[in-house]
Amino acid sequence: MMNFFSAKDRAAILQRLNQEIFDVVVIGGGITGAGIALDAASRGLKVVVIEMQDFAAGTSSRSTKLIHGGLRYLKQLEFKLVSEVGRERKIIHRIAPHLTRPEPMLLPITKKGSLGKFTTKISMWVYEFLTGVKKEERHRLLSAAETIDKEPLLRKEDLLGGILYYEYRTDDSRLTISILKEAVNRGAMALSYLKVTGFVYEQDKIKGVKAEDQLGNGTYIIRAKYVVNASGPWVDELDSLDNKIQDNKLQLTKGVHLVVDHRRLPVKQSVYFDTYDKRMIFVIPHGEKTYIGTTDTFYTGDKLEPLISTEDKMYLLTCVNNYFTCTPLELSDIQSGWAGIRPLIRKPGKKPSEISRKDEIFVWQSELITIAGGKLTGYRKMAQRVVDLLAEKMIAAGQKKLPACSTHEIVLSGGKTGTPDFSEFIKNKLPAGEALELRPEETEVLLYRYGSEIDLLYKIMKTLKEKEDTAHILPLSLRAELVYTIENEMCMTPLDFFIRRTGKLYFDIDSVKKYGSALIAYMQDMLSWDDQLRERYENELRQALSNVL
Ligand code: FAD
Repeated sequence: MMNFFSAKDRAAILQRLNQEIFDVVVIGGGITGAGIALDAASRGLKVVVIEMQDFAAGTSSRSTKLIHGGLRYLKQLEFKLVSEVGRERKIIHRIAPHLTRPEPMLLPITKKGSLGKFTTKISMWVYEFLTGVKKEERHRLLSAAETIDKEPLLRKEDLLGGILYYEYRTDDSRLTISILKEAVNRGAMALSYLKVTGFVYEQDKIKGVKAEDQLGNGTYIIRAKYVVNASGPWVDELDSLDNKIQDNKLQLTKGVHLVVDHRRLPVKQSVYFDTYDKRMIFVIPHGEKTYIGTTDTFYTGDKLEPLISTEDKMYLLTCVNNYFTCTPLELSDIQSGWAGIRPLIRKPGKKPSEISRKDEIFVWQSELITIAGGKLTGYRKMAQRVVDLLAEKMIAAGQKKLPACSTHEIVLSGGKTGTPDFSEFIKNKLPAGEALELRPEETEVLLYRYGSEIDLLYKIMKTLKEKEDTAHILPLSLRAELVYTIENEMCMTPLDFFIRRTGKLYFDIDSVKKYGSALIAYMQDMLSWDDQLRERYENELRQALSNVL
């Protein structure tokens, strides 16, 4: 039977796209497009998502990886936005418990800092009121001694105290892929490496797209009643394919994160702190690493692979070295990193950090619907607004009424853990991992990555153990992840695996260097690549390893 999200079935899926007529084509397989696909599919629409790279390869794998309550926006008096993202955070935690976990965040208050004790306390009350924060996650005001106790690496001079509050940590690309998997489970179709190059018109209205296969040579026409442009930083570029649209909506800014060994920046917990140029940045411990970010600078360069400049690196290292007492970090401490492009709605005259993160929907004369701006955290509401608009258009066109949005109740793929307590789920699943000779910390990583899909991974491990050489150069769990992601998550290339499926290029770069070649050989076998394709992917991996340093 065909699996609609298997890399092995890509050719058959491509054929189907050419034959069907969809209600909606969504351009862009980032979190915005994924959210729209799930909302549309769950309301009974026939929807397809088309992505020119891997899913989440744009901004949706390059964020700070937080499901924000939106505290920062309070400073800009964006009460509605704060209230919405704060409430969304709770919903995402419920529907994706494996991909969202509460993260205590320390906000130090210093004499020279931008936040006073009193104003921060008031802001926190307003914030918690607007976002309906749970009692056990409400903020705590700390004395200077308590603040140092929480994070001993902070400089004591100037420290007045601190606030401890909660953010939620996530894995941005896995969240995007889980939403897509759930959409596909509900009848949506989704294909990566298929680039939209033009629109199909019927009486001046857009009724489909022309698309080029990025892994082969084919050109395809995909027909639909409506087309949604959810292409993030590429929104203007896509809009301009419709000749009547000459209006640039976006202002792009670049944000960089750096990864260092945790032993070089051994913070006990996440800290959100003031920079010398009156911004705020994060340091976040992540297993054996710590990541630092982000910058925020206007950007007009290459959108596919924005690079990390020496200036970006020096800025972040200086901010950390000014604030923490560990041996100063140097350029040679950087092990990995990523740069992402924020697709913000243009607001002339504003500095990058002052531009609102709100989203906006534009409906053009050709009936193309464009959604721009927004945050990872607000994806579900953005999707709801787009599908509500489609529903209105359908009624106006005499079609049947769509049911209301129900995505707040749809548990995402991997989230069906059977208990509201994730630690209990971990406890229940550890013994089966042990039986497969996995260390508990290895199993835990897999549980946070795949959630309730772990049973399928265990099954694959058992089969591989019976079938394959136990002394295989690739560890059993890595082979199982590879098989699982190829067959169930449309993992097409080594970088799809090392970046968007597992985050190893950022947080476990040594394993990428160690296993890269063996993994490519294994994929070649599974996906029947010729030697030319294998060489292409080897080059891509080499390039990616050099880009992150
Ligand atoms: P994208 O993820 O870029 O998706 C658009 C997709 O469209 C791309 O994958 C692209 O390849 C595809 N595409 C483009 N052209 C075509 C074409 N012609 N044919 C087919 N496909 C096409 N938000 C939070 O909530 N929390 C955070 O912690 C956070 N931190 C951030 C930190 C940084 C540095 C940045 C840059 C952003 C951060 N954000 C955060 C914001 C969040 O990451 C973005 O709002 C979100 O990921 C945008 O998703 P998207 O789907 O709109 O765009």
